[in-house]
Amino acid sequence: MVNHIDRTNYTEGLHRVADHCYAWLEPPGGWGLSNSGVVRAGDEVLVIDTQNDMRMARAMRAALDQCFGSRDPAHTTIVNTHHDLDHWTGNGVFDAGRIIATDAAVKEMRSTPDPDSLPDLVEPDTAAGAWARGQAETFDFTAWTRVEPNESFAGSRTISLGDIAVHLVEVGPAHTPGDAIVHVPHDGVVFAGDIIFHRTTPISWASISGQIQACETILALAPDVVVPGHGSVTDQEGVREVRDYFSLVQDHARRSQAAGIPLEAAYQDIDLGPYRNWAHASRVYANLACAYAEAEGRPSPKPTEVMEQVIADDHALTRHSEQSTGGRQ
Ligand SMILES: [Zn+2]
Repeated sequence: MVNHIDRTNYTEGLHRVADHCYAWLEPPGGWGLSNSGVVRAGDEVLVIDTQNDMRMARAMRAALDQCFGSRDPAHTTIVNTHHDLDHWTGNGVFDAGRIIATDAAVKEMRSTPDPDSLPDLVEPDTAAGAWARGQAETFDFTAWTRVEPNESFAGSRTISLGDIAVHLVEVGPAHTPGDAIVHVPHDGVVFAGDIIFHRTTPISWASISGQIQACETILALAPDVVVPGHGSVTDQEGVREVRDYFSLVQDHARRSQAAGIPLEAAYQDIDLGPYRNWAHASRVYANLACAYAEAEGRPSPKPTEVMEQVIADDHALTRHSEQSTGGRQ
């Protein structure tokens, strides 16, 4: 079933957001609950990101088959916006002839561990260890196979889809080293991947200044609709919010560093203002750590270096699991 253009309808499933464009939404957009996009023109279908687990990928595939009929793989293309597993675990479910990502994303994918190995990567007797076990129990990796892109690019690439052009634009390093966005000028739509989290706290693993620049790149395209990697469908206002969030983080990091304040104290100190009520606010620890490293010319911290603090302080996670009877956060 397709829900027709209504941005306030943030429910799981396929939502039409413009003439050729659809969003597959996974509320509430927390850890592992990412959105996908679909562009359909003529006989061609483009799938943007393929979900974090097999159940969600298969549900999305079934919805596409129901709406558009089943297709030859030659008429299905996937774009993975970046290498995080919640955006490409389901690649094998969609029978796509072409799978495209940036060169930098493909390089990261090749060294990404299998999705069911997450608990092995984290100290078991920690908050992050408990979280990782919860993720492994929640998501379904049955019959998962590793299907990486068979095509990559740097800079930008235009693909033809039926009679419309779709632009892939590299905007990383930002959220990760190899982010891309997908722009459908005909419909005024941008699929932003994890450059944009809408009204839920974004996280950067690669570059805070890159995040700000990527938001500016999206705004310069003047889209009417922006499909974020996590959260509900938005527009340019949602992009400005993310840009301003990262500017606030960057300013705080710069001021704190100039005053010789260590990362932990800068984290305790930060006033998130309007962003304090976004879910997973403790991700600001990872963002500050990224800003500190960037300013000092060090590589950005690995997830294992920051996740314990982020998860231990993740009140949205605690609240959700207390209320939940088996939710998927
Ligand atoms: Zn994601």
